[in-house]
Amino acid sequence: VPVIALVGRPNVGKSTLFNRLTKSRDALVAEIAGLTRDRKYGEGKVGDVPFIVIDTGGISGQEEGIDEAMAAQSFQAIKDADIVFFMVDVGAGITNGDRMIAEYLRRSGKDAYLVANKIDGKNPDLVLGEFFELGMGEPLPIAAAHNRGISALVEYVLGELPQDDDDYFRELAGEEAPVHEELDVKGIKIAVVGRPNVGKSTLVNRFLGEDRVVVYDEAGTTRDSIYIPYERHGQEYTLIDTAGVRRRKNISEAAEKFSIIKTLQAIQDCHVCILVLDARTGIVEQDLHMLSFVLNSGRALVIAINKWDGMEADAKERVKTEIDRRFDFLTFAEMHFISALHGTGVGNLYDSVDQAYQSSMAKWQTNMLTRILEDATASHQPPVVRNRRPKLRYAHQGGSNPPIIVVHGNLAKELPEDYKRYLANTFRRVLEIKGTPIRMEFRQGD
Ligand code: GDP
Repeated sequence: VPVIALVGRPNVGKSTLFNRLTKSRDALVAEIAGLTRDRKYGEGKVGDVPFIVIDTGGISGQEEGIDEAMAAQSFQAIKDADIVFFMVDVGAGITNGDRMIAEYLRRSGKDAYLVANKIDGKNPDLVLGEFFELGMGEPLPIAAAHNRGISALVEYVLGELPQDDDDYFRELAGEEAPVHEELDVKGIKIAVVGRPNVGKSTLVNRFLGEDRVVVYDEAGTTRDSIYIPYERHGQEYTLIDTAGVRRRKNISEAAEKFSIIKTLQAIQDCHVCILVLDARTGIVEQDLHMLSFVLNSGRALVIAINKWDGMEADAKERVKTEIDRRFDFLTFAEMHFISALHGTGVGNLYDSVDQAYQSSMAKWQTNMLTRILEDATASHQPPVVRNRRPKLRYAHQGGSNPPIIVVHGNLAKELPEDYKRYLANTFRRVLEIKGTPIRMEFRQGD
């Protein structure tokens, strides 16, 4: 998934563009305290192409010299990104700050695009000319506040890139190609995610260090993570190691322990996500951000509440109450109270992982789904919509991981939300779907 960083002076419209690119995904925007002050991460999609956006605090250009002008976090965002949108303000014209940023970007060799914001009603031919001076190629005009030119911009930029081609990105960035194999990943892909210090590394080591685990010495790498294949009780798994627990020596030593981008990429790529929480601290906002990443991805999810060892009975009770209260909406995910340190509860965790995988990858015949639909509508008629009774004709499977069930019929799209939910719940119950969300789609007509 390509990563796009937004850089530019304050007030050029970075946050507005960020919100547009991640629209309807506001819940996803994570500001992880401490680690990423002044950096915001979000996920976006134009057409079928997903991407990750990083917003940066901005570079004022008031400071002396580029080193001071560029806040450290902006450098980091540029480094983390595959693509940089360098935003300027058409109304304000070129400033010294813009010149410094342009200079830095040109030297960095990053794939950077000059985005001229606030074009509003202006004639591009008349107002964009001066921005060529920045030496960043043709300015691409948008009006973020009016939602103009944004999809065209993203399509233009992402359309040029072969998707998922990490080497290509590296080459553009002037970096050396990584050890890179076409990953022939076996079995169930597991991503262990969570904020720092909840015990991810301890859990990963526990997974790989168990007596009955065979770890194959043929780990693959992507630019983001190491993929470790192993076998447990005859079942094949591949662990996506975002924490760098089993990092090979020749891969970047500067591996940070925790990276939101790696986490997002791992979630995208896994079959089942294990979200680790820390019973000692309870649930904090960063946990909810992580959870929203997983929910947005549609991946199967198992929750591990870690450090359950040595907790007092009343503390355990408090944590359980808190979890019931805050996660009451999260009905599909299994919860496990574990100790990664001692291995307690880890076996049960695997049962849930296996089950969630089966559900997320299951295949159902159209006639089976249609029969369930017929039974559901027979026992509960769809309510009348615009003076007509919807007729739901058949259902078929539109995809896996997460399972998509497509219901066809007249007025299908206009069914009230609670009826749609009733159908979803019925499919879930009859098909025994566990551990994964399901997506329902409704199509009008035959
Ligand atoms: P990560 O940042 O999520 O990878 O967290 P680590 O695995 O590095 O763990 C952070 C700290 O929590 C370390 O000091 C671990 O020893 C401790 N820890 C991890 N799991 C457990 C557990 O199950 N019980 C207890 N008591 N401590 C744990």
